[in-house]
Amino acid sequence: MVIPCYNEQEVLPETSKRLEQKMKKLIQNGVIADSSRIAFVNDGSKDNTWQMIEKLHNDNPLFQGIKLSRNRGHQNALLAGLMTVKDICDVAISMDADLQDDIDAIDEMLEKYKAGANIVFGVRSKRQTDTFFKRFTAESYYKLMNKMGADTVYNHADFRLMDKTALEIFSQFGEVNLFLRGIVPMIGLETAIVYYERSERFAGESKYPLMKMLQFAFEGITSLSTKPIRLITELGILIFFVSIIVLIYSLVRHFSNQTIPGWTTTVLSVWAIGGLIMMSLGVIGEYIGKIYLETKNRPRYIISKYLGDENDDVDLTDVKFQNTRNL
Ligand code: UDP
Ligand code: MG
Repeated sequence: MVIPCYNEQEVLPETSKRLEQKMKKLIQNGVIADSSRIAFVNDGSKDNTWQMIEKLHNDNPLFQGIKLSRNRGHQNALLAGLMTVKDICDVAISMDADLQDDIDAIDEMLEKYKAGANIVFGVRSKRQTDTFFKRFTAESYYKLMNKMGADTVYNHADFRLMDKTALEIFSQFGEVNLFLRGIVPMIGLETAIVYYERSERFAGESKYPLMKMLQFAFEGITSLSTKPIRLITELGILIFFVSIIVLIYSLVRHFSNQTIPGWTTTVLSVWAIGGLIMMSLGVIGEYIGKIYLETKNRPRYIISKYLGDENDDVDLTDVKFQNTRNL
């Protein structure tokens, strides 16, 4: 199991307790190997999260710790965790630290895996515990994403099972603009869905305030789809045709001596076109910015410490970073 944690000292004791129970049961029932592990990824927490992970690891080897050198955000933390465990596991299940995802859905995920699925998506069946605002914005967002051509699984966040094959293929996706829930469906293979009810955060507060959520939403669309650029182009073509009509109209008015003092329309159109140009430039700039980030080919995470089994043969460097060094 891979659990990203950012300032999660309030929930970690409970999360580790519940996960330990779950793992024990699964091991007892012979569903998973007794060498199964829970890896907490500390995403540059400023509280005692890492100290707690260290303590958990020292008390019980079931718990492992991956410490990032600084806060890199949820998606990168998850990536770091998955890429670190990829070579030492058959399947990895990712889950948030705050117990919003239903731990009992893990059983069903494993069943689907045994039935042949390479990837199992955890999907929320209801959003009752969310506020109306969050529910509305989230659902409109999924719809918008699909319209924009980004193929996401409706109401699926980052609670999912991936097997070795899926992880191996996923490691080839070297993009910096990470939006895992958009990339994972691109892998294809055999997929399955497990429904669960998402509950409220067990303790502590959301690490996704509105601003971060909006940024994440925007990132999702622009990192998966170039449709916004296409829309701008289409708009440009439309405006071009409109301007031809306006030109003919004004010429007719001119030659029939019906010209009016067109100050208002002139000023209005200058503003309208100006706005449109700015908007178009903004969108283009957005993509150029992304190209800039991708071409720099920076490591997406840096692991400063790893607490695992002694003979774990794990690779602690970002896949992409490693590729560049091998060149
Ligand atoms: N998280 C992280 N790095 C960050 C922000 C969040 O690793 O910079 C983790 C966090 O610890 C949690 C998960 O990502 O396990 C989801 O965050 P949260 O529950 O705060 O988001 P929400 O459920 O409110 O959208
Ligand atoms: Mg949460």
